[in-house]
Amino acid sequence: MLCREIAMPRKAKSSRPASCDVCNGTDLVRRITTYPVHLSGPLEGKQIHVGRVALHECQACGHLMPTPAGQAKVDRNVAMGIRLFLGQLH
Ligand SMILES: [Zn+2]
Repeated sequence: MLCREIAMPRKAKSSRPASCDVCNGTDLVRRITTYPVHLSGPLEGKQIHVGRVALHECQACGHLMPTPAGQAKVDRNVAMGIRLFLGQLH
């Protein structure tokens, strides 16, 4: 669906990433924190901050990688945020 294309969900992965997607570092720390999502397509430039997402943070470059549960929450919040941005809630 449209929302999924905009949110660009990452590929399904095992629960704990072995290394960072960006720098390949293996020093990952589990955290619960705010996860910023940059939108693309018609909402280019907009950002959604999803609060209290379970994720792994790379200690080398700061890249954030949500856990499967965290990603599910991100997906739900982004879908809601997109509807808000597009004014489709009413
Ligand atoms: Zn990294």
